[in-house]
Amino acid sequence: MSDTQTIYNLATAGVRQLVPYPPGKPISELQRELGLTQIIKLASNENPLGPGSKAIAAIQAALPELARYPDGNGYTLKSALSAKLNVDFNQITLGNGSNEILELAARTFLTTASEVIFSQHAFAVYPLVTQAVGARAKVVPAKDYGHDLQAMLHQVTQDTRMVFIANPNNPTGTYLNSTELKSFLDELPQQVICILDEAYYEYAEQADYPDSIKWLEQFPNLIITRTFSKAYGLAGLRLGYSLSGLEMADLLNRVRQPFNCNMLALAAAEAALDDQEHLQRTLSVNSQGMKQLIQAFKELDLAWIPSVGNFISVDMQRPAMPVYEALLQQGVIVRPVANYEMPDHLRISIGTAEENKLFIDALSGYLSNVQ
Ligand SMILES: *Cc1c(COP(=O)(O)O)cnc(C)c1O
Repeated sequence: MSDTQTIYNLATAGVRQLVPYPPGKPISELQRELGLTQIIKLASNENPLGPGSKAIAAIQAALPELARYPDGNGYTLKSALSAKLNVDFNQITLGNGSNEILELAARTFLTTASEVIFSQHAFAVYPLVTQAVGARAKVVPAKDYGHDLQAMLHQVTQDTRMVFIANPNNPTGTYLNSTELKSFLDELPQQVICILDEAYYEYAEQADYPDSIKWLEQFPNLIITRTFSKAYGLAGLRLGYSLSGLEMADLLNRVRQPFNCNMLALAAAEAALDDQEHLQRTLSVNSQGMKQLIQAFKELDLAWIPSVGNFISVDMQRPAMPVYEALLQQGVIVRPVANYEMPDHLRISIGTAEENKLFIDALSGYLSNVQ
């Protein structure tokens, strides 16, 4: 085995075809490349306020314990989630980010004979976890940038084992209401696992946004995933969880590594759950920031996709990559979404008022130069 090609040939077919997830550009990388001092990142849907003070205090208090392994069962965090969400302790599975739960589910249920359904423009991790286990992805064309549930149901066959639904969806910010989603679940055959990805759950304050937990009893094939990475401001610690029926949680926990969630993450997440004030401030900064960006898009005559998340995708009406590159030169990192089949859009995470203004100024400057 002298050349690397030989090693590639030893990998499974799914892995050979994998294209790695392109993360938002880290601030430190742009700093290295351009030597800029002021850089803002509105590229990974992080909380612009940072973690709350309760989470930080909990991390500091946990530091002296770091020589120990974490509690592999996440007892105190799961107890807190159980009480807050009114679900049984054993319905909860903790993950190293909710992305890990997506992967656990794929490894639990999929083989190379399985089909997996998800929507065009849906979250990029779905094709990754599907391909990594060699299952076959069926991508269903979107409707108005959102999930076309009827079309997704039509794609279900005997071989379909899993369907991913992001609600709200990233990068489009679209959402499905309670009625639509409930009738989808009613029609979905029970041998198809439905992963309902609610990473932006806390931001979706619309009256008809589903309270999906109440469906768990009726649908043992349902897995709801949530995260501390977005509204709770703890993306760097990697902590997510799923809610499901007891049998489902038992299966996921069999596949899960015993110490998949670290001690600082467990402590911080538990404290963050209790920090209502920080969450409220986060939501209010987000809705004001969303208005600020929409106002700017109106003034710049740009179309956007209405979003219920903490980000918004805007149509540049031209290939977006040069705009992205020009913004980088100004120290503004946003997210190109060509890998989501949206080559003319940029996705902007909502920042603080000041960050939003820096982005708007940089974008206006660029557009007035090219027009
Ligand atoms: C950010 C995001 C996640 C998960 O992130 P974790 O940090 O792994 O919890 C999951 N789904 C969607 C749609 C996301 O945008």
